Order: sequence, then C-alpha cells, then structure tokens
Amino acid sequence: MTREEKQKALEEIGKQVEECRKCPLYQTATHGVPGEGNPDADLFFIGEGPGQKEDELGRPFVGAAGRLLEELLKHIGLTRNDVYIGNVVKHRPPGNRDPLPEELAACWPYLERQLEIIEPKIVVTLGRHSLGRFLPGKVISQVHGKPFRAGGRVYFAMYHPAAALYSGSLKPVLFEDIARLPKVLEKIHEGGDMENATPGETPSASPSPPQPDSPAQGSLL
Ligand code: URA
Repeated sequence: MTREEKQKALEEIGKQVEECRKCPLYQTATHGVPGEGNPDADLFFIGEGPGQKEDELGRPFVGAAGRLLEELLKHIGLTRNDVYIGNVVKHRPPGNRDPLPEELAACWPYLERQLEIIEPKIVVTLGRHSLGRFLPGKVISQVHGKPFRAGGRVYFAMYHPAAALYSGSLKPVLFEDIARLPKVLEKIHEGGDMENATPGETPSASPSPPQPDSPAQGSLL
C-alpha cells in the first residue's frame, strides 16, 4: 500500500471506532481514540486505553503519560509524528479502570487491522495489558527492554509511562529500554538475527502466522 492508501485505510478505522458499539465503553466515553501517527511507521507504540485527556481530545497519549512518551521518543531522536501510537482499547474505561476481557476482545480487530496496514517493524507494548494481549504469560519485569519474535512480528516490551509517573525508579528504566530500540531496528533493517542488539538471546524458530483472535505466543529473538 502507498502511504496515501494507508492513511485512507487508517482514517476509515477511525470512523468505525467513533461509531463503534461493540462493547459498552462508548456509553461513558466522549470520543473514540483510534490512534495516530505516521502510516509508514517502523515503530507502533501500543498502550492500554485512553485516559481523561485522551477521551476529551480523541487523541492517544496527550496527558501526563503522553508527555513522558514524547520525552522518551526525543531520547532516540524521534517525535510522535515519526511513529504510530495507539491503544488496546479505543474508548476510555470509566474512571481509568482496567479494560475487561470482553472489551479487549471486542476492540482487538481494530488494532489488528491497524497493524496489518502499517506493518511496523516493531510493536512496542507499553505496560502489562498491552504486553499481555500480544505475548500472554510474559511478565513485564522479566521481558522489558528485549525484543521478541511472535506470529511473524517483532515485539519490544516497555513499562507504561504512567507507571513511571507513580514510581520514579521506573523512569530511568524506561529511558534505558527505549535507548535499545534503534539498535534492534537497525538489525531488523539489516536482516540480522538481532543477537548483537540484545546479547545473550537466542534467534527464534520460524514464526507462525498471526492469529487475529488469539494473540501469539512469544519466543525470544
Ligand atoms: N494511557 C494509555 O494507555 N493510553 C493513552 O492513550 C493514554 C494514557
């Protein structure tokens, strides 16, 4: 797809999200928050769900967590316009509660379609909900800052920026983790096995095709 075709397809998803009635979250939300950014992005950052500010503006990561995400991107020479930013649920859970399994399931096809359109080189999961959707069973404290190949995609898990706002000790960890991303990306562009990007990890076996309804099992790169 050309960039224009991707942009158009993503706008179509945006309209569908705004009109979505597949779970009750729309009833308490102001706006759908489909996601935004570069349709040709190498990096797709995926958070949990819109908060209050995101709900007001219909845009992802525009509150305090978003400011930290922008700082993190700046640390590797990027702005939010260089990457794509979205969430596993597209309407705000009331009171910022965790999304329910049925809400995650209802919203999943939108995210899968966005991933198919954008074809990012790396899916960067932010927080445990996003990690759990793609790599069930992985524990964030053990896998953050490392690339994983699963279902034909490369994933890179990071703590959620909001977690670092509550627990200051996580902030340097987020900066250390994101600083590894350019090297991982470089290895992918070179077609390498990324062992040099993440010393000590093993190359994956051949990945299985992505399953839209069942998130892939992860394996270390
Ligand atoms: N937290 C998220 O997970 N997503 C947003 O868009 C904002 C805050």
